[in-house]
Amino acid sequence: MELPKDPRYLKYPVGEFDPRWTAWNCSRCSVCKWVDSWHVKSWKYASVCPQHKRYRFDSYSCQGKMDLALNYIDKKITLKDSSAVKDVLFRCTMCGGCDAMDKKVRDGETLKLFKWLRQKYVSELGPIPEHRALLDSIKNYDNVWLQPRTRRNVWAKDMNIKDLTKDKAEVILFTGCTYGLSQELQGTIQAVGKILKACKVDFGILGEKEVCCGSPLEKIGAEEEFTRLAKQNVETFNTLKSKILLTPCAGCYGTIGLEYDERKLKKNFKVLHVVEYLEELLNSGKLKIKKELPLKVTWHDPCHMGRLSRPYVPGKEIDGVYEAPRNLLKAIPGVELYEMERIKEYAWCCGGGGGVFTGFKDFAQWTALERLEEAKDTGAQAIVTSCPWCESNLGNAIKGMEEKIGLKNLIELITEAL
Ligand code: SF4
Ligand code: SF4
Repeated sequence: MELPKDPRYLKYPVGEFDPRWTAWNCSRCSVCKWVDSWHVKSWKYASVCPQHKRYRFDSYSCQGKMDLALNYIDKKITLKDSSAVKDVLFRCTMCGGCDAMDKKVRDGETLKLFKWLRQKYVSELGPIPEHRALLDSIKNYDNVWLQPRTRRNVWAKDMNIKDLTKDKAEVILFTGCTYGLSQELQGTIQAVGKILKACKVDFGILGEKEVCCGSPLEKIGAEEEFTRLAKQNVETFNTLKSKILLTPCAGCYGTIGLEYDERKLKKNFKVLHVVEYLEELLNSGKLKIKKELPLKVTWHDPCHMGRLSRPYVPGKEIDGVYEAPRNLLKAIPGVELYEMERIKEYAWCCGGGGGVFTGFKDFAQWTALERLEEAKDTGAQAIVTSCPWCESNLGNAIKGMEEKIGLKNLIELITEAL
């Protein structure tokens, strides 16, 4: 094979993102479709890419998107040539499973390339119709659920929590749109408030002044709107001069923790998922888990707490919040943890990420059902997680199952055991 003349393609672009390098350098090895062969446990659960498993054609895989990108960059196709382009690009949960596997064979930036392509799509053709309501909701209401701003702090009524617009506190509790506004899920944020109070943590909330972290925008290619929100948020948080920003939402955690850094937004606080913080409280003896809860459980690693939460360091394992939830579960007397086949960086996505929950419900549910099947195969009575998108998507899929499995939020489980 003739070597490329352009020296740009011979250098190793660590720390840089070069779309053409990532696309051209793909060896079409298919590694990104499967759990790394050293960790595969069965054929049934060997896939790592929901999009490829569901739609079967190579173009729907990560490898296929490398071809799409290369042909687009080299001007051999345009994004409006075929309606299939939209499907290939947006029926992807942006779970990063492929990206994690690709990083085992080369230092590619496949997920960054998908985001870059989605941004190009949105700037050339506008947002896809399936995402317009989501975009409008964030623009008009600063949240993803078309809810008035005044509903943001309804969950905290009568809880006597510090208002950070008036008082200072060591910890900012960032509730996120879904835990803050969904009536079905607000028990989680209330449980967080109760635990922090019981452990005498100095914390407060922004209430009506809290705005979306921007995570869905970043995933659906609305970069301009995302950057606007991210800048506004960092400015607000920095002014509070708190030491820690704590969130129970995996999406907010990955976005404020990693994506804000990627945009070089300087933060004067540390970002922690509530689960990490609860592990610290447990280790310091402030959190006391006493009650016995006889329950067989399995832990679902949300992508945004795992492979989408840490910067990639070449040559190092892909890290994430993997041990803290497992340690908390093991600390509850009576709880037995049964692991699924695909865990940590190999975890199968719940199906709700990347705008798929909003735009392509059939695919989101199909993906969730596979995860629930995997959870049931462990013999667990309940699947436990700590992400509102995973909870909503898995919860919806459970409703349609004949033999159901329980679904629990880790924080609520801990409250039950206090
Ligand atoms: S693992 Fe990486 S190099 Fe291999 S086909 Fe996938 S994107 Fe290309
Ligand atoms: S991000 Fe997830 S769904 Fe999308 S191509 Fe990669 S593994 Fe498949």
